[in-house]
Amino acid sequence: MQEYNYIKEQDNEVYEALMGEEHRESVGLELIPSENYVSRAVFEANGSVFQNKYSEGYPGRRYYGGQDFTDQVERLAIERACELFGAKYANVQSLSGAPANLAVYSALLEPGDTVLGMDLSHGGHLTHGHPMTHPAKIYNFVTYKMKNPDTGEIDFEEMMEVAKREQPKLIIAGFSAYARELDYAKFVEIAKEVGAYTMADMCHISGMIAGKALANPLDAGFDVMVTTTHKSMRGPRGAIILTKEDKVIAKKINTSVFPGLQGGPHMHQIAAKAVAFKEALSPKFQTYAQQILKNAKAMEAVFIREGVRLMCGGTDNHLLLADLTALNVSGVEAQTALDECGITLNKNSIADDPRGPMDPSGIRFGTPAITTRGFMEEECAQVAELMIEVLRDKDNQELKDRVKSEIEALCLKFPIPTSFI
Ligand SMILES: *Cc1c(COP(=O)(O)O)cnc(C)c1O
Repeated sequence: MQEYNYIKEQDNEVYEALMGEEHRESVGLELIPSENYVSRAVFEANGSVFQNKYSEGYPGRRYYGGQDFTDQVERLAIERACELFGAKYANVQSLSGAPANLAVYSALLEPGDTVLGMDLSHGGHLTHGHPMTHPAKIYNFVTYKMKNPDTGEIDFEEMMEVAKREQPKLIIAGFSAYARELDYAKFVEIAKEVGAYTMADMCHISGMIAGKALANPLDAGFDVMVTTTHKSMRGPRGAIILTKEDKVIAKKINTSVFPGLQGGPHMHQIAAKAVAFKEALSPKFQTYAQQILKNAKAMEAVFIREGVRLMCGGTDNHLLLADLTALNVSGVEAQTALDECGITLNKNSIADDPRGPMDPSGIRFGTPAITTRGFMEEECAQVAELMIEVLRDKDNQELKDRVKSEIEALCLKFPIPTSFI
């Protein structure tokens, strides 16, 4: 029971916002694939006294005194992260995914160096070279693409050609809108050919890697893996950077995070990461990871049955990207209509989208959050059917009202772990 009694007592304005969000999360269905609900234990650690402490440096090598317990908790987070992903070194201080990626770039690259990453219009992430980002001003990003957006097959021939021509220092495997397993060994092979480092940005799917439901790029020989801890990992907001075995790379990464890019680590987040990693090491988490994928498959089946085009032809990794062109609905219209029904997801570009990025042709959704709520295949298929009903008749207010109450009823049956509503 989280009642926020102190906030209620002394700050009514923030209390009202908090209650609004509590209610929104409780009765609404979260299909944004990067969101999740933490356990009560993670929630507690994240709101703990570790919030009060400055701990610049690393365990055993801090600048300030009073570090007995910060050292203890950071060492736990490191050990558990290494165990989860089969790594030898872990930096657990990175504040979030974007700064973690920047930390790897600045550890391994010089300004002006070339990086080969997935084309953003084919599923790559903003931090892999979008022109508006800071890294894009420092490094030279070149891209690879899918050979066939309807299967998700990556064009490794093109990747090899680009790699030979552009001589990247770093090759990135990772995405925010791509639905298939990557052939990690192929990335390593191409990187070896041109002498590049390999980095896997597994932010979206690390929960399934930790839960042994998807392949681990470190096992295929990747030098570095980055992941956020708040998506399918179901931990606090933050990120970690893992190195399989190269001590020199691991040292460069530590120096790059602190003092390169950050000051004092957020020890409350690190404590919460440690708690989340212990949860992720349990057999229950493996069941959770498998269920995320089964639930995504249940939604996939409904969309395919109803003739809606899915990018990559479906999903292996829980991300679902639907092209709504044939339904005559834009991504924005879909997002708005579903929002009115209490279903939250995001508009998204499809590969080679003929419409602009602010008004794209598709939507993106995923199952980590609803799986945490306890949804199984049956509920997920039901949600997918409701979504398609709304997409086919988006201006029908009566329909949207009915769907909204069905969604609310479903959500109340499966409360989120930190809710007291
Ligand atoms: C979410 C995500 C990020 C960024 O993480 P933030 O914590 O939002 O900074 C980076 N890369 C990928 C692939 C992601 O999915």
